[in-house]
Amino acid sequence: LREAYEKTSRLRNNKEGSKAIEKQSLSVLRPRTRGVESLIGNTPMIEIKSLSKFTGCKIYAKLELMNPAGSAKDRVALAIIRANEKMGRIRPHQGDLLLEGTSGSTGISFAVLANALGYTAHICLPDDTSPEKMQLLRSLGAELEPVRPASIVDPKQYTNAARLAAQRINEDPNDPRRAIFADQFENDFNWRIHYNSTGPEIWRQSEGDVDVFINGSGTGGTIAGVSRYLKEKAPETKIILADPQGSGLANRVNYGVMYDRVEKEGTRRRHQVDTLVEGIGLNRLTWNFQQAEDYIDEAIRVSDDEALKMAKFLCVNDGLFWGSSSAINCVAALKTALKLGPGKKIVVIACDSGARHLSKFWKKAADIPNDIGLDDILA
Ligand code: PMP
Repeated sequence: LREAYEKTSRLRNNKEGSKAIEKQSLSVLRPRTRGVESLIGNTPMIEIKSLSKFTGCKIYAKLELMNPAGSAKDRVALAIIRANEKMGRIRPHQGDLLLEGTSGSTGISFAVLANALGYTAHICLPDDTSPEKMQLLRSLGAELEPVRPASIVDPKQYTNAARLAAQRINEDPNDPRRAIFADQFENDFNWRIHYNSTGPEIWRQSEGDVDVFINGSGTGGTIAGVSRYLKEKAPETKIILADPQGSGLANRVNYGVMYDRVEKEGTRRRHQVDTLVEGIGLNRLTWNFQQAEDYIDEAIRVSDDEALKMAKFLCVNDGLFWGSSSAINCVAALKTALKLGPGKKIVVIACDSGARHLSKFWKKAADIPNDIGLDDILA
């Protein structure tokens, strides 16, 4: 496993990879054709009027959920595909494979872009992934490899399963296909595409005037790329990590401590984040999150209860039907706005739609009364 890890990940240590990264810029997101990939990026930004009114701040959401496959992961998937094409590691319409270990948005982005750009997506995922996500990936035509939930040090864990499967294909002399392991947690292309696209878009859309940027961390790619860009433009910009209950990242940011030991005989529970919120929160340090650490000023921990209430509040009062991680960001924005006082400009990411979270998060949020108020969230 270690050997496979060294071979397939950390393009930053690889001369060829570093060159591709250097060249990588907004141009990977520019349309070459007018296919679905031309819709990636340049997402709109809107004001969350109810939150602005309540706090006296201006609170904006960057609508990453409006990317064609429904999340910011479209940017990352496209950047990884284009860079690997440039390096000659994959070729369209030759049966080549895009492999990733994911139960979330990244798999959906790879499945959609594989179809659009002439590849096959092969997604390794825990076998307890929600039926709606499995169904969506199956509908998109991705090859699915459900694996038993396991710790990150187990070769059968879904990320490792994808890494090893890619290696096996590439090393098999009888298999003419080429395969890449996307490796979103450790891959430099992840945070860099946010530095090169999401960050500049937010800067432009807020007319160079952002007091606070708030986001959660799944891989850490978004917060790393955006915060690095914003701090370079305006060092006084405050960067806040919104972290769900059960995640170790908030403690890492606020107190410098976190469970960060790769155990020999780990169980999944030690790495699992005990929350209804999907897509963010982690109990291990990833390369992409490490790229954010120098830029994050503070972390705000948000409970599931607060997130559920916020999701329902935004749905009923603003017509914004969002997923759990977006709700977490908005709770952190509300608290930050009240702490800093009126007049500040705060930007959060709206990560994905509530439709991706119907069976778990929204099953509970749906039961919250329509007259829920922001005071109830803060109570
Ligand atoms: N929200 C959702 C719904 C996600 O799937 C993810 C990515 N796992 C994130 C937020 C966080 O994005 P990042 O990986 O860039 O930290």
